[in-house]
Amino acid sequence: MGAVQQVPTDIGAVVDVSNVCWSERLPPLGRHYPLLRRLDLVRAAWYRQFGAHAPLLLVADNSLRRALPPEDRRTLLRLEGSGVLRSAPAADPLLLELALDRGWYVVSADQFKDLRRLHPWIERSPERFLGWEEDGGGVRLRPSGIQPVPDHLVSRAVEYKDLKHGQHHIDTDVTAHRRVLRSHWRCTTRGCMKAFLWPDRLLDWPSIGRDGRAECGCCGYPLREAGPRGASRVIVASDAADGREFLRFPISVGSAVQLGRGDLSNGVNLAATELRPPFEVRRVSRRHLMLSLEETSGGPRAFAVDLGSANGTLLHRGSWRRSEPGGRVALGETDRLLLGDAVLVRLSGCRHLTAGEQAAPALDAAGGDLTVLGTFT
Ligand SMILES: [Zn+2]
Repeated sequence: MGAVQQVPTDIGAVVDVSNVCWSERLPPLGRHYPLLRRLDLVRAAWYRQFGAHAPLLLVADNSLRRALPPEDRRTLLRLEGSGVLRSAPAADPLLLELALDRGWYVVSADQFKDLRRLHPWIERSPERFLGWEEDGGGVRLRPSGIQPVPDHLVSRAVEYKDLKHGQHHIDTDVTAHRRVLRSHWRCTTRGCMKAFLWPDRLLDWPSIGRDGRAECGCCGYPLREAGPRGASRVIVASDAADGREFLRFPISVGSAVQLGRGDLSNGVNLAATELRPPFEVRRVSRRHLMLSLEETSGGPRAFAVDLGSANGTLLHRGSWRRSEPGGRVALGETDRLLLGDAVLVRLSGCRHLTAGEQAAPALDAAGGDLTVLGTFT
């Protein structure tokens, strides 16, 4: 007797409904608005290719309902009522969990870049992700082509989501919000901690209030503009012991930022309790490191200077080496700085957050994934 052929008996798929409905690669081709008809085409292709009884679970963003035409909206509600479709504020985390639990396929053209850290199986099992093509003879499902994503690009995807869904409510798709990112801001509220600490300009991103104006993340009052913000990069600080990220803040051309421990009027306090800083943060000096962003012929570059810290700064570029106190180090995309063996500092992959009027939220050089931003709730 030969080995028994393993026939999978429970092939199923979780469908990223918003992604399917918005797909310009499904008829009507090239039209960028959501239609439920596209979901019908994908469901029919699934049953043709995987069998009439292979289960499908549909997951949609809450925002899809509002975006659909009225008759589609009614159909969507019916699907929801019959238990075939589930809605969530953000569909992606839910549909990935469902697919992981059941060992099912994911039907989506999305690369899920911002969820790669949470779901390392995406890169390990690219065959479980199905996209679609329309070849004249009808719609066919085929592997969507999940690509490995370098760490700094994952970080860029996380950045946009963080600005949008975190405390800042900044949506890089909205012109008025991008304008907020392009200014420096100042809080003039008496008694506000941030106004006290950073009288000239805030060193973190503002929040955006309901009326679309910039407000202070500390006191909540409207901010005053403090001049244009040059090109900016985002700095990520994490706990050297376990890699946990605990702080992100911008640095901009023409505005140096000091990193240290305690209240710094031109700097960022890595030991602030609300950040839940690393246990070993006391090894960071009061004024440990200065970061700046400077225009060079090759575009803005980040530089770091150790300010004569007691426990020193190490630079990782292939291997670890000591950064001389007072010496300027150009910080590359994959470089890491280690402050007092306690805090790791690096550039986020988000490279063009505020670089001029054309600051389109392209996620990577390939640029084919604008829908990642365009269709999120
Ligand atoms: Zn304030």
